[in-house]
Amino acid sequence: MKNALISNYHTHTKRCHHALGEDKEYVEEAIKAGIKYLGFSDHSPMPFRAGYVSGIRMSLKEADAYFASIESLKKEYKKDITIYAGVEAEYYPEIFHKLIDFLADYPLDYMICGQHFLNNEEDSYYMGSPFSNEKILRGYVDNVKEAIDSGKYLYIAHPDLPQFVGAPEIYDKYMRELCLHAKERDIPLELNVLGYVKRPSSPPYPTRRFFKIAKETGNRTVVGIDAHSPAAFADYNSQKAIFNFADSLGITPEPFLKI
Ligand SMILES: [Zn+2]
Ligand SMILES: [Zn+2]
Repeated sequence: MKNALISNYHTHTKRCHHALGEDKEYVEEAIKAGIKYLGFSDHSPMPFRAGYVSGIRMSLKEADAYFASIESLKKEYKKDITIYAGVEAEYYPEIFHKLIDFLADYPLDYMICGQHFLNNEEDSYYMGSPFSNEKILRGYVDNVKEAIDSGKYLYIAHPDLPQFVGAPEIYDKYMRELCLHAKERDIPLELNVLGYVKRPSSPPYPTRRFFKIAKETGNRTVVGIDAHSPAAFADYNSQKAIFNFADSLGITPEPFLKI
């Protein structure tokens, strides 16, 4: 069975400490799966204050090797696949400008916004844990709106990560605001395959309650595998489930994005 997917801009590498395999293996598995446009978007190195070490991303020092590896794979496989060098980066207001300055030294093709934490990572909320405080949802939506306004992001990864368990009207109000903002700025929203694969042990995204709003708002959408292992490319059943989910809401994900 061949994959319906011809692009994936959400691909990690072992540098984030929770993904497996060699960079080359991701490329080879993507080619086998029929992917034509492959973006690496590992969890971005971040210019945190001295002394803070994140366990879920490469260090600043590892950025050289990350981009060098992708540049070399671009050349090696150019006959078979178009490869892009990206990062998945939260919008952390206090250090965002430092991050952009840092990345300016590298051949970066694009960024995606996966807002896993509110405002910062050191003393903050993981958005995938259940919460009912409206202020946290307000903050999440503000972070993502500012990310969109920065003009630096290609799309929003798993926009429906927040596990808000408060009143449905409140969820609807804030997420509608997010969707409208993305629509006005022409920024696609991702239907995330990994959120499906990890069920039921992790936050259950993509969610019907979010993408119903996105459908009503008329948002652009794209499917992201969020590959944390080369084998993820061959998981056609999960990818198909995401396409079926989209279809059930009348949503048609875009086959590829312009970079
Ligand atoms: Zn990850
Ligand atoms: Zn990711």
